[in-house]
Amino acid sequence: MKYCSNCGKELIKMIPEGDSVERFVCTHCNTIHYQNPKIIVGTIPIYENQILLCKRGIEPQYGKWTIPAGFLELGERVEEGAIRETKEEANANVKIIKLQTVYSIPKISQVYLLFLAKLLDLNFLPGHETLETVLFPENQIPWEEIAFTAVKYALKTYLEDKKNNRLEITHIGFYPQHI
Ligand SMILES: [Zn+2]
Repeated sequence: MKYCSNCGKELIKMIPEGDSVERFVCTHCNTIHYQNPKIIVGTIPIYENQILLCKRGIEPQYGKWTIPAGFLELGERVEEGAIRETKEEANANVKIIKLQTVYSIPKISQVYLLFLAKLLDLNFLPGHETLETVLFPENQIPWEEIAFTAVKYALKTYLEDKKNNRLEITHIGFYPQHI
C-alpha cells in the first residue's frame, strides 16, 4: 500500500497512538488504513459416499483438485458465501450441514471456514475457473493432487469423523500442522 485511498497522498508506516501494531497512516488526512486477514469460505459437497471435487482452471495450483471455495464478499454471511462459491465453481446446489473446519494460515493472513454440505442434485458442471467437476468415492480421493492444505485438512477430518461416527465436531487447525 503506497497511497491513501481517501486523499491520494503518500502513506507512511507507523504505530498509531494507543495501538501496538505498525499501520499504513496518511499524515495528510490522518486516515489509518487497517489491514486484516482474508476469509475464505467453501463447502465439502457430499452425496451418498462421494465427495464433489473441482479441478482448478486457474493459478495458483492449476490442474490440482480442490473443493469449491473462495473469498467471502463484503456484506455477506459466511454460509451464504460458501453456497455462492459452490454455485460459481461447480454450479452445484448444496444445503449446509455444519461447519467442518476453521483453518488459519497466519503467515499469509488467511482464514478458511469450510462447511460440510449435502449435494442436493447431480446437475453440477464446471464453472469458469474450473476444468472438471467430479464426484469421487471417499476411498478414491486424489490425495497427492489436492491443491491446498486447508482443503486436505477439511477432507481428512471429515472422513475420520465419519469413520469414528462423530460427525458433529468442528475442527480448528492451522498451518503448518501435520494431520
Ligand atoms: Zn489521506
